[in-house]
Formats: sequence, structure tokens, C-alpha cells
Amino acid sequence: MAIDFSEINYLSEPDSFTLKADHVQFLLSISGPTVIDISGKDTSRTRVITTLIHGNEPSGLIALHRWLTNLTADNRPVTNMRFIICSPDVASQSPTFGHRYLEDGLDLNRCFDHSLDYSYFKRANLISAAINEVSPEILIDLHNTSGCGPAFAVSVNKTELALSLSSLFCSSLILSEIKLGAIMEQDFRCQTLTVECGGSQDQQSHEVAYQGICHLASIDDVQACHFHRDVDVFLAPLRLQIKPGVDLNYADIDEGFEGVTLLSNIEQFNYGILRAEQMLGWVDQQGLDNLQIIDKQGNNCIGQYFTLRGNQLISKIDLNIFMATKVTSIAKSDCLLYLVAHTNQM
Ligand SMILES: [Zn+2]
Repeated sequence: MAIDFSEINYLSEPDSFTLKADHVQFLLSISGPTVIDISGKDTSRTRVITTLIHGNEPSGLIALHRWLTNLTADNRPVTNMRFIICSPDVASQSPTFGHRYLEDGLDLNRCFDHSLDYSYFKRANLISAAINEVSPEILIDLHNTSGCGPAFAVSVNKTELALSLSSLFCSSLILSEIKLGAIMEQDFRCQTLTVECGGSQDQQSHEVAYQGICHLASIDDVQACHFHRDVDVFLAPLRLQIKPGVDLNYADIDEGFEGVTLLSNIEQFNYGILRAEQMLGWVDQQGLDNLQIIDKQGNNCIGQYFTLRGNQLISKIDLNIFMATKVTSIAKSDCLLYLVAHTNQM
């Protein structure tokens, strides 16, 4: 199927016929990026929610569909709301919600802020334009994590508003300086926050997204609102990556595989702390050379965080782990996990 990268569709106040019976039928009825506008009590302000940048991360779509179908004439949002469903064509490829991006495509959330204006870069530019045209006061980008884990928010800056917004969805905020070409790194002249709602198969993740949208649509002054809950802040995560060409496996015991083997229950570390000297897998004779953690200066600092005990890969210090995944394709192409030294927590 040829993709028309110049396509972007607008829906205003969609009725129940347009929204179909459920979120899957609605997804199948739209094709390219789709903008949905809902007018609020105060029409001078607009809050934007983007979602489905990754086709296998359905919580945002499920939540916004539920919110839209529950909307009534006397139950309007406090401001205008603009939802942007970014990759419906990727999500609706069989199996539905099975592809982060298409096999011969690009990861759309690595295509923002490029001077290029074709294919997925063009799509990213169209989405950016659809955000900028309403001069939003807030931009929330809803995702799911590849593995299981609790919800967390990511921001490039620590502001009262970032903390306040995070508290509407979850209880952790990660401050990231990583530049990958993601939508959240862009300057839309408003507070931008990514929310990783948790695993894509978890009902709880859909609920996190839905409750967050409900709060966002009903709280007039988010800046001044009391935090719904305490938010832990984590500084400057790093990415643990496998070097190109190195084999990656998951196992419960050391099976002597080449390259790197991670524990098959690696995702458990998303829920807690990886303690110093705790094992997360095994390596072959290349040892730590199989892996890299590139710091801000561009140096590989793997030795600061991990060491070996025989051929066991163990943590050198207490670490908070995010987005550990056992989806091999994502672990190899993106990263094995994100980590923050536990002492860095503010
Ligand atoms: Zn994502």
C-alpha cells in the first residue's frame, strides 16, 4: 500500500456515527494522520494531545475514543481540545496494533526537527504544523512502553507545570536530554510532556490515559492545581544499547549463547530498583564490549554502570530502570533499557 505522506484529515466534533461502535472500527475508518477538534468553554485556549505516533501503542487512542463517546452537550472541556492520531495507517496494518512502524518505513518519533520534507519527515512536519496552528498551552504525547511497567512521564524541563501535568497521569517524571528527533524535544512554545502509559496490553495503561485526559479536560488552571499525587523526578536517563551486529537472546539460565543474553524476566526491573551486584544476564567472551552506554559527551561509559562476575552481567550501582523490554526487535534497534543512577533521584 502506497502511503500518501501529504495526507492529513480534520474532524470537528465527531458524532457517534463518525466514532463508530468502538476504537478499532473507528481506527479502520480513518487513514492518514487525523486531527480531531473539540471546542471548550473557553475557546481562546487549546490543549493538544497526540497519540499513536507508534502504531503498536493503543492506550491513547482507546482513551480518547472513550472520552469522545462520553462527551455531552453540558459536559464540555474547560478549553478547546485537539487530538492528533498520528499513524492510523500503521496501527491498522494486520495484525492491528502490531507494528511500531512499518517494516520498510521509519520510526515517526525519530523524524521530527529535520530539514527534510519527504516521506515520514513530511508527516512529522504536518503534525508539527497542526500543533502550531492552534498555539497550544499544553502538549501531551501519549505512548505505551514496549515492556510491562508502571506509567511515567518524560519532559525536557523541570517546571511546576511539568510536575503538575505528570501528576494527572502518573507518579514519576524523567527529565531527558536525549535528542532523537522525537516530538517532545520540539519547541511548540508550550509545556510538552510525553506520557508512557505502561504496557500496551494492560487495561491499567488505557485507564491511566483516560483518567489523564479527563483531568486535563476538566481542570481550568493546571499550573496552579494541587498535585494529584507526589511525583518522583529522575534526572538524565541513559540508554543501554547492544552494539550493532551483536546477538541478543533472552533466557532464564546461561545457555552459552553468543553476544548478550538478558534474563527473560528483565521487565520486572521496570517496577523497582536494580540493586548493585544484581545480575541482568550473561555475555560471551567479548564481555562488556558487546554493550554501550553513550553519555552526553559521546563517550561509552558502560564501565561506570555495569561490570562482570565471570560471564554474568551485573550492575555496579543501584539503578532505576525504565522501558526494559524483551521485544528483541525494539531492544536491538532502539535500546535494551533506560537507566538512571538511583542516587540521581531528586
Ligand atoms: Zn512510543
